[in-house]
This record gives sequence, structure tokens and C-alpha cells, in this order.
Amino acid sequence: MTSVLEKTVNVMIVEDYKLTRMGLKSSLEEFDGISVTGEAEDAEKGLLVAERLKPDVILMDLGLPGMNGIEATSRIKQTNPNIKIIILTSHERDEEVLAALGSGANAYCLKDIEPYALANVIREVAKGACWLDPVIAKVALKLFPKPDNIRISSHNQLQDGRGQLTERELEVLRLLVKGKSNTEIAKDLIVSVHTAKAHVCSILQKLCVDDRVQAAVKAVRENII
Ligand code: CA
Repeated sequence: MTSVLEKTVNVMIVEDYKLTRMGLKSSLEEFDGISVTGEAEDAEKGLLVAERLKPDVILMDLGLPGMNGIEATSRIKQTNPNIKIIILTSHERDEEVLAALGSGANAYCLKDIEPYALANVIREVAKGACWLDPVIAKVALKLFPKPDNIRISSHNQLQDGRGQLTERELEVLRLLVKGKSNTEIAKDLIVSVHTAKAHVCSILQKLCVDDRVQAAVKAVRENII
């Protein structure tokens, strides 16, 4: 549910398939607080439209004719770092994930994401959050080897990481790995959003990570949950 005080998030879609664009636009506009204000069928046009409209969030396809979505993301981020970019991809090839991770995008989603979940990612990313689909997070983990110090003492760290978290925090962490927002976590656990946020903050502190993506990555990598 979106409060009337929350600003509408203006979204632009860069996607070469017209039907996919239309489907995304119509399903996203069902949600409060999201308005699809721009579209482009290729990256070159996407750059021009982004410059003109300055949307809050861009949904960027990876496979585009001509310039690909990764290059387009890098270019838009160079000139308009405040525009948030969500990569929306239908597959998770290793080299693409690696390139996407380096492009400065704020989120990486697979195209089979449920519309309500995508709407949540859009709202959270517009507020400054980052999001990595768990499938893509797993590919990323495979690509980045663990540092030696973690490998040597992984057993102890694993015990420590899990031991520090309360049962409730472990529950929150499991939901966080599933990509749930604070609002959804609050709803699932029947607590206030304020309480859910406090649990997330405590988890970030205890796991020594900066954001929920890193927390989810650490949770999966170290089998904390
Ligand atoms: Ca495409």
C-alpha cells in the first residue's frame, strides 16, 4: 500500500519487444504510485528519452538491437547518476551478470518476476535501495571467489554469524533473501514496519554489511539461514 504522501515513481521502459513493453506498462500501472512515462525500443533511443524525461527509474532490457543494456546503463549512469536503473533480464549467463554488476545498475531482476514483486523493487530502488534477484546473486557468488581469510575460518565465522542473530532476526533474514521489502516482512511477521526496519538494521550491523543485498549474499554464501 502506498501512502498518499509518497511521490509517484516515474518509470521508463527500454525493451525491444513491443508486447513485453505493453505488458510491463499495463501491469505496472495497476499499482499505486507507479507511472510509466517513457518507453524506448532500443538503447540509443533510450539514452535520448532518459535525457529528456529524467525518469526516477528505468527498466532496462539486456538484449537489445545495437547498443546493449549494459552499455546503455553505464552511459546513463555517467550523465545522470540519480536515475535508478533496474536490469530486467530473461537469463543469467555468467558473463552478462558480471558485466551487469559492473555497469552501475541499482537492481537486477529476472523477467519471470511477479508484477507485484517488480512493483516493490521499483518503489524500493526509487528510495535508494539495491536489489539482486537470488538466482543472479548465486551466479555472482560463483563468480567472486571467497577471500582466503573467510575460507580458512569459514566454520567459525559461520557459527559466529548465525550465533549472533536472534531467532527473530534469522526469520527476517530468510524473508530478506526472498527479496521481501520491509513492508512485506512486517506483514508476514505481523509486526510494524518500524520493527521490521529495526530488525533489518540489527542484522546489517551483526553481519557487518552495508545493505540488504550484501546481507542476503552473506546469508546464502555462509549458510547462515
Ligand atoms: Ca530483448
